[in-house]
Amino acid sequence: MEKPLIVDRGEGSYLYDVEGNRYLDGTSSLWVNVHGHVREEINRAIREQLDRVAHSTLLGLANVPSVLLAKKLVEITPPGLNKVFYSDSGATSVEIALKIAYQYWQQQEREEYRARRKFISLTEAYHGDTIGSVSVGGMDLFHSKFKPLLFETIHAPAPYCYRCPLGKNKDNCSMDCLKEVENILDRHHREVAAFLIEPLVQGAAGMVVAPEGYLAAVSKLCKRYNILLIADEVAVGFGRTGKMFACDHEGVRPDLMCLAKGITGGYLPLAATLATDVIFDAFMGEIEDFKTFYHGHTYTGNPLACSAALANLDLMEKTDFIGGLQEKTAFLANGLKRFLNLEHVGDIRHLGMMAGIELVEDRTGKSPYPPGANIGHRVILEARKKGLIIRPLGNIIVLMPVLSMSLPQLEELLSITFDAIQTVTERTDLT
Ligand SMILES: *Cc1c(COP(=O)(O)O)cnc(C)c1O
Repeated sequence: MEKPLIVDRGEGSYLYDVEGNRYLDGTSSLWVNVHGHVREEINRAIREQLDRVAHSTLLGLANVPSVLLAKKLVEITPPGLNKVFYSDSGATSVEIALKIAYQYWQQQEREEYRARRKFISLTEAYHGDTIGSVSVGGMDLFHSKFKPLLFETIHAPAPYCYRCPLGKNKDNCSMDCLKEVENILDRHHREVAAFLIEPLVQGAAGMVVAPEGYLAAVSKLCKRYNILLIADEVAVGFGRTGKMFACDHEGVRPDLMCLAKGITGGYLPLAATLATDVIFDAFMGEIEDFKTFYHGHTYTGNPLACSAALANLDLMEKTDFIGGLQEKTAFLANGLKRFLNLEHVGDIRHLGMMAGIELVEDRTGKSPYPPGANIGHRVILEARKKGLIIRPLGNIIVLMPVLSMSLPQLEELLSITFDAIQTVTERTDLT
């Protein structure tokens, strides 16, 4: 086993290990960092809050940063999402959305609505590692072992165009996967509470980018069949796709939205599940009606985490962060083109500041490297030698630059990654 890298400190887009080596943070410390490490404005906000109070419970009480942040989240998320429920990780934000959606239908007057107990999600979906979020997940590698513990979920085929589950290709595809979604809804809508989706990009699946219009079409179908749409923006939210939220690209207004990862700028664990008034109102009633949503995590709405999130959003606003991202996303998109010159690059998928480079043993047949080749892992270790931290998903090399990364740093990210892929794949060809 290789020696573990032990991080000592960070600065902007770089991390330093305990031996003083410097690395570019090409994973945003697992898809979370927005403004770079040790950003003065966020540090200050946390310090100031620390001097007021580090934690007070949100069960029965409120605290100032949690109130201000809830207001802010309502302002910046798609119209209609007016209520905020806090928790502390992406997985919990999803659990909460699932439980709210389920209970929402259980509390309807019309008896037939109470049969709406199942969820639809996509194959290859990833929504977290708790049992509920695993139940709606679609990645066999992470999920198959736990099958006996999971609740039943209906899976629609992912829009994974490079390896289309319906066997289509660019020339004969008319988004047949949407037709499948429609068939499923038509068959199952009476028993379905909600459709859960990672909008535009299925991250952990390997940056599977949906074709344009797919998300809006799914949203429309959900409305037509009166099924709640849950947008899991845990990975894609807060600028990652080049807009504040992925739903913004197609004007989609989900009924529930899950937020985490980038919410605090990558500083502290915090998550939020947003809901519409219609959903919120279904939980109102007399005490003895027991319509309350009985769910609460001990550290929910933690003031330090909420302060970090407020400082993150404040910085985004003051620096026209989303506007400034456009040049970077164009640079990244352009810089990725050269990877097609590498013989073992099968597919390059990207949107905004997230990219996946799928490595294949043979490009014509799209045949994957065998797991034993450990190709992704070897590439990222090679990159590490050259001063870059990235993390693969199987045979897919993932690039998730810190959103504030400069153009020269993005070039560094691209060129080290290119060299690492070239070195490792050529070495493998020789053996
Ligand atoms: C990372 C991720 C999660 C889980 O978030 P955690 O904070 O790790 O629990 C859920 N959904 C998506 C889309 C994610 O990328």
